[in-house]
Amino acid sequence: MKVHVNADCISCGLCVSICPDVFHITEGGTAGVYREEVPPELEAVVREAADSCPVNAIEVG
Ligand code: SF4
Repeated sequence: MKVHVNADCISCGLCVSICPDVFHITEGGTAGVYREEVPPELEAVVREAADSCPVNAIEVG
């Protein structure tokens, strides 16, 4: 599974709270990912972060 944060991110920080192993706030203030390829053990929590994002800025596939 791959994950990507798109330009709709409003920097709320929720994804970082849910899954700090994958998401972080970049120097630009919006969220980014440490790695686009999600290891199997983190897929569930990354999906939870994607479902929780208020602006649907987290794309998984
Ligand atoms: S939850 Fe969504 S809007 Fe909030 S920081 Fe993460 S990607 Fe951005």
